[in-house]
Amino acid sequence: MNYNVFMNETDRILELRKLLKQYSYEYYTLDSPSVPDYEYDMLFRELQQLEEKHPELYDPNSVTQRVGYEILSEFKKVTHERPMLSLGDVFSYDELREWSKKITDVYGQVEYCAEYKIDGLAMSLIYEDGLFKQAVTRGDGVTGEDVTSNVRTIQSVPMAIPYRQRYDIRGEVYMPKTSFNRVNRERRENGEEEFANPRNAAAGSIRQLDSRICASRGLDGFWYHVPDDVNSNTHYGSLEYARKLGFIVNETTSLFNNIEDVISFIEETAKIRNELPYEIDGMVIKVNDYALQRQIGYTSRIPKWAIAYKFPAEEVLTKVEDIFITVGRTGKCTPNAKLTPVKVAGTTVGFATLHNEDNITDKDIRINDTVVVRKAGDIIPEVVRAIKERRDGTQTKYVFPEFCPVCGGKLYRFEDEAAHYCVNTECKARLVYSIAHFTERNAMNIDGLGEKRVEAFLNEGLLNSFEDIYKLHNRREDILQMEKFGTKSYDNLIEAIENSKQNSLERLINGLGIRQVGEKAAKILAARFRNMEALMNASFEELSQIRDIGPITAEYIRDFFNEESNAEMIRQLKMLGVNMEYIDTSVNSDSLFAGKTVVLTGTLEKYSRSEATALLEDRGAHVSGSVSKKTDFVIYGAEAGSKLDKANQLGITTLDEAQFESML
Ligand code: NAD
Repeated sequence: MNYNVFMNETDRILELRKLLKQYSYEYYTLDSPSVPDYEYDMLFRELQQLEEKHPELYDPNSVTQRVGYEILSEFKKVTHERPMLSLGDVFSYDELREWSKKITDVYGQVEYCAEYKIDGLAMSLIYEDGLFKQAVTRGDGVTGEDVTSNVRTIQSVPMAIPYRQRYDIRGEVYMPKTSFNRVNRERRENGEEEFANPRNAAAGSIRQLDSRICASRGLDGFWYHVPDDVNSNTHYGSLEYARKLGFIVNETTSLFNNIEDVISFIEETAKIRNELPYEIDGMVIKVNDYALQRQIGYTSRIPKWAIAYKFPAEEVLTKVEDIFITVGRTGKCTPNAKLTPVKVAGTTVGFATLHNEDNITDKDIRINDTVVVRKAGDIIPEVVRAIKERRDGTQTKYVFPEFCPVCGGKLYRFEDEAAHYCVNTECKARLVYSIAHFTERNAMNIDGLGEKRVEAFLNEGLLNSFEDIYKLHNRREDILQMEKFGTKSYDNLIEAIENSKQNSLERLINGLGIRQVGEKAAKILAARFRNMEALMNASFEELSQIRDIGPITAEYIRDFFNEESNAEMIRQLKMLGVNMEYIDTSVNSDSLFAGKTVVLTGTLEKYSRSEATALLEDRGAHVSGSVSKKTDFVIYGAEAGSKLDKANQLGITTLDEAQFESML
């Protein structure tokens, strides 16, 4: 290493220490982080690696040597009897395997306990003579804040336990997603700044000096660590004991004999993560045996017998390189950000939605801004906010266009609508999207006629309407002349088009692209009216009374069929041989769920929420989101809450997962 590089690394260490201290202050003290956790974690790693390289620059005040941030709040300070540490973290399965190997190389096979890493804030609860005495935040690991009166407002925290000796139990206070959405909605309505995420919302609530405010925030807690190994020889055993004392221990906490099984558990969890009623940002893996934990030991900041596996970040930083408009099949114009490609939630993202003009203005997102991009589960990536501190004068404000970027038609913004629309029905963009929607897998399912090809056919004058699809067999020579079109793909395409004529009615209804009529509504309409003619003749009253349709969608349906060109298009499709009848394939019409209204609550072990819903709907059930007197069954899984209580109050039949399965 040459002198200059050394100088740079020293500077970088000092710079990172300063930056991370600032971020920690914003995160721990203000409960208002300015950058995503992943950004912090990566800078933290960089600093750790540089510090390892330069032991001569050791500083006990560096963030890498400390837990949390020094306490600046007005709460009474309390010294923990045993320190409350942080956790080491890994970001890949290979790193997790490495961590495990270091242990098994020395101690042979070990038993692991794997748990959800709840995204809240750590809390220690102290009981004396069987009574709740004190709740203390982690603080800087040695000293925390006495937030007893606030924790008292969390209903699930026991105020008395059947255990007389001093008892210290630790866990996470968190804000369930429903509370978070409610609190942020209220803050928005009151013109207050919204919380960035449930963790910060929970931490901000627990530090309220007025405990009535904390009480109104709907916090909850999971308890996962008993530092005094008095009632069991294992971590898992001590949690079972805690559960018997009345503490809420997460039911998914499980034991494994090897790290590969732990990894399978993590993978399973990652799939259902977004369906959980609370946020988790990873998994914590702990050596189960207390004696072994003691042998493996601690650093000043973390236990070496535990590790946090962090899920791929759902929020990351990147740059907005440009903003452009896409025109959808209804003519809706959506502004999008072209991003410097970045990995979010495991996939590379180059574009993100900006929703509409107001969103851009409210968040003041500019071209060349550094922004936080979020992608959770299957949700379309979105720009969450701009980091204004990183502006360098090169940013420019975006001016929403007055005219459609595709056809040049004037854009309109209707009353009570946030979106702009291109109303030109001939607009090429609208046509491409509507035909591509018509051919989609969930609609007419015509393989080989996706958006790109529709556009190419449109440019060649082969396609201008839905009807034209069914005339393509007359254009064989023209199609075969096109680039990348061989006889085989032509034959396949014509076959797919031919097959689509036999589709059941709901596919056609979905494909028409009537506003607010997607797959689900199309199914309901097809099952109800049985053929296209009956649907076209249905009155507004008839339509609006159908559950899950309602007056707004009913009006859209009427408007669509009242338009003569649409009625003509249907007639043409019929003449071309497209089926207009509903084909009832519900072999399960004698199912116990047929015609019943069912509510799902909590987390089922074997099925995600959408899988369970699909199974029920296939059997003719109506799956509803809320319990009322009209509900026939409530199916409940782990962590079922108020819906189950309500069902019991109303005397509605409740089914656990096994009963649900047997009824299936
Ligand atoms: P951490 O959140 O990475 O992990 C330790 C914590 O996990 C524990 O203290 C505990 O509160 C929690 N936890 C949840 N479930 C658990 C379980 N089942 N068992 C044990 N512990 C469990 O570490 P930290 O020290 O609390 O915080 C550091 C992290 O905070 C960083 O990695 C970063 O992601 C975030 N942070 C972000 C910023 C920012 O500016 N965005 C700043 C500072 C810190």
